[in-house]
Parts: sequence; structure tokens; C-alpha cells
Amino acid sequence: MEEIRLKDLDQKFKYDIATRPGAGNFTRCFTCGTCTAVCPVAEVNEDYDPRKLIRMSILGMRDEVLSSDIIWMCQRCYACYARCPQNVKFADILGVLRDMAIEEGHADKAMNDRIENLDRFVQDVRCKMVANMLHPSDDQKKKVRKMVEEELVRNE
Ligand code: SF4
Ligand code: SF4
Repeated sequence: MEEIRLKDLDQKFKYDIATRPGAGNFTRCFTCGTCTAVCPVAEVNEDYDPRKLIRMSILGMRDEVLSSDIIWMCQRCYACYARCPQNVKFADILGVLRDMAIEEGHADKAMNDRIENLDRFVQDVRCKMVANMLHPSDDQKKKVRKMVEEELVRNE
């Protein structure tokens, strides 16, 4: 495990987050782990851990958090939002962390827009694949394959 050096921690970070709209309950987190347990991204990606991200942010690991790929993995499904006993509103905190990452030069706005488009695309593909399971059709399969290929090209 990586060593945490006190002198590298930014004590202001948690206040910078908590004063943003939607993030006021951020420091109420008592690391119960419910968010991680219900998160569909954590289920498939063992590096993704909302509880850990909040802990790192409260500790003041500003650069590690804002430069991390992990903050872009959340699909904003709000499952954690509904279950958090402290009403931390993690999905909104993620939005704040992404805004800060862009403002502080760790990412650009265009990437944020692409990820939002990707989330919509994934839902669209899912709906079409479910429809194809219920009513198999070669046309539908072709449509999905074409959509995925076009998306891969767009993301090259
Ligand atoms: S569910 Fe809420 S209180 Fe529990 S770890 Fe997640 S954010 Fe913190
Ligand atoms: S909003 Fe993000 S962190 Fe929360 S459960 Fe959904 S994917 Fe996981």
C-alpha cells in the first residue's frame, strides 16, 4: 500500500468540496461502506470504491483524487444516493470532483461530455439488447453491432 505523507495532504480540500452545491453533507460520511456494497460499478471493477474515494478526499489527498481515473468510472445511477444513511449524496460529490478535476487541469471538459454521451449510449445499447433477447431479430443484432462499431471509432 502506498505511504501517505502528512505534509502532502491538503487540509483545505474537504472544505473546498463541501462548500460546493450538492456536497454539503460530504463530511458526514462514517465509512459504513453501503455505497460500495450497492454500486454496480464496484461490482465489476475492484478498484472502484466510493467509500475509499470519500476517505481519501476527507484526508486531503487532493492530487491523487482529482487526477485519478476512478472519478470518471461512476455511471451516476444514484443507487448509493438512495441508500446512504448519512445522506452524503455521493453521485453529486462525484460531479463536484469532476468539475474540480477540470478546473485544476487534470481533465478537460470535452472528456466529461464524451463520458456523459457514453453513459447514454450504454443505456441505449442495453435497451436494444434486452429487446433482442425478448424478440430475437437479425436486423436488431446488426443495428447494435453497427452502433458499437461506430462508437469505438468515435472514441479512437
Ligand atoms: S453509504 Fe454514505 S456514510 Fe456509508 S460510506 Fe458511503 S457515503 Fe459514507
Ligand atoms: S452513483 Fe456512482 S458510485 Fe453511486 S452506486 Fe451509482 S455508479 Fe456507484
